[in-house]
Amino acid sequence: MPLPYPTNDSSPDCMNKWPLPDPMALALEQARLGQQAGEVPIGAVLVKGGAVIAAAHNMPRTLHDPTAHAELLAIRAAAQVLGNERLDGCELWVTLEPCAMCAGAIAHARIARLYYGASDAKGGAVEHGARVFEQAQCLHRPEIYPGIGENEAAGLLRQFFAGRRG
Ligand code: ZN
Repeated sequence: MPLPYPTNDSSPDCMNKWPLPDPMALALEQARLGQQAGEVPIGAVLVKGGAVIAAAHNMPRTLHDPTAHAELLAIRAAAQVLGNERLDGCELWVTLEPCAMCAGAIAHARIARLYYGASDAKGGAVEHGARVFEQAQCLHRPEIYPGIGENEAAGLLRQFFAGRRG
């Protein structure tokens, strides 16, 4: 099967030259807004039928709420917009591999497809740690597409944590 991007460039940055899907570009923009607000730069966007219905960034510090992760805020907002606790047919685009709490919420919300940027060996629970969607008790498994906008998302986080150490 032909690859959907040019392969005549063997540089490791080859993938970066291919434009990001709009929802991931928007999630990265949310992450940057979060950073400007003093939050860990993580953004999430909820899409249904090609339309963005919610976008959010991490806000635990701003809201004094340990559960105010970007994914949860986007899921809550989308559920209000749709007037339904189930987000059937929706896509969640997030800049970082979701944690166990957010992965649980994604399952409860019946999100159809999960796209994420950087993987998170420390706090992630999709391909690391609890691997929530791989458990027999998991009531719903989205289709999962990792690594979209990975370099951009990881770069924002590296920059943020390097700044805090400085
Ligand atoms: Zn989370």
